[in-house]
Amino acid sequence: MDFDYLSLDEKRSLHQKLLYRLFLHAKCHPLTKNRLEQIEGTVTEANILSKWQHILPEDTSDHKPLLIEQFSKIATLNRDRGSAIVISSGGTQGAPLSTCLSFDEIINNCYFQGKGYFTAGIQQNHTVATFGIPSLLSSEFTVYHGLKHTACLILPIGISDDPEKIVSLIEDFAANVLLVMPSDLIPIIQYLDASNKKLDRIKLIVTGGEKLREDLVERITSRIGIENLKLRSTFQTSDTGSIGFQCDSVKTDAYHIHEELQLVEIIKDEDDDNCLVVTNLNRYLFPVIRLKTGDIAEWADMKECPCGRKSRIIKLKGRKSRYIKIGGEKFDQEVLHSIPFLFKIPIEACAWRLRITNGNQEEFVFKIHSDYRNKINGDTLKNELNKGNSKFSHQSTMKIISELKIEELNSSDVVYSASGKRKFLIDERT
Ligand SMILES: [Zn+2]
Repeated sequence: MDFDYLSLDEKRSLHQKLLYRLFLHAKCHPLTKNRLEQIEGTVTEANILSKWQHILPEDTSDHKPLLIEQFSKIATLNRDRGSAIVISSGGTQGAPLSTCLSFDEIINNCYFQGKGYFTAGIQQNHTVATFGIPSLLSSEFTVYHGLKHTACLILPIGISDDPEKIVSLIEDFAANVLLVMPSDLIPIIQYLDASNKKLDRIKLIVTGGEKLREDLVERITSRIGIENLKLRSTFQTSDTGSIGFQCDSVKTDAYHIHEELQLVEIIKDEDDDNCLVVTNLNRYLFPVIRLKTGDIAEWADMKECPCGRKSRIIKLKGRKSRYIKIGGEKFDQEVLHSIPFLFKIPIEACAWRLRITNGNQEEFVFKIHSDYRNKINGDTLKNELNKGNSKFSHQSTMKIISELKIEELNSSDVVYSASGKRKFLIDERT
């Protein structure tokens, strides 16, 4: 049965069955039973969702002590399923996250990942250069198991500090598809610009993990690809797995949902933002129920997609999360809030700005009121930022992000959200 072509009523009825199965499991599960209210009367999709509170990714991160304490019970839950257990590695954070999956759940996710590669246009006659994407549910393992469904030729490139080597590997093996995070393309484009070269065999670039910015598209197409280079992406997160895929008819920021795997909601939060909330219908070892992904999204107004699929389409509008991506790596914003305390400066006298430089690097700027400028020590500041992401200085060496700048705070840096909260970080990248 292909979920993509089911009518709304058929889909709703199947979702209800899958959700009810998850509900029965989750109300006995040591990590979820305490946050689920008892449901009385008929159990329907609407009353399950109204009783289950949505949670944030950091809520699952805070489960670490509970996960360690309850691990033997969770492992017992898995025993009947006869599958290995995998503790998720943090990928970009480099430290283990407090989540775990059964091996079967990972392999099932790979199928949807592969479907996304196929609908993005990867075919049997393609040679696909892959660039070591971090985090468990989008790791090289997942990429290869996903790509096998397209029967293509896989050329693992990995991440290298030497763009010349990357370019010659792509040329030597005649790769015609790149599967890559947008930020990993920047050093390659810089090298191609400097050496006045082109990678002119590439037909398709499939991205994932971060938004492909319009200004970067121009730079990519000036150095990479045939005349009608196709740019497509897949949408997944390290907590929820594969969420969306693109057919030929959707725009670059829109995705059909893998509705067989994910129940997606868009709900308003206290700032009046439309937040993406995801329930994974196939995660039992560590259930993912009504998790806010940190993305702001809206339903596409397209009634029926020209591709014929009936699976719903979302448009991604931006990110809202404790973790932001800087240069493609996850950065913990909590570290930014600790800086004023460290230097004994009032928080009102500080702000952070993220913007794009002319050279297409991401520029991270610390704004400080002139009265306190002499209290800041640049080296200490950089060391502290490395606590937010250990690859921070590496990204700067690789020129993916520019050197940290310190500038004077002015009135335009004092910005408030709709709910009246001061916005400490102003992201001007989108
Ligand atoms: Zn479509």
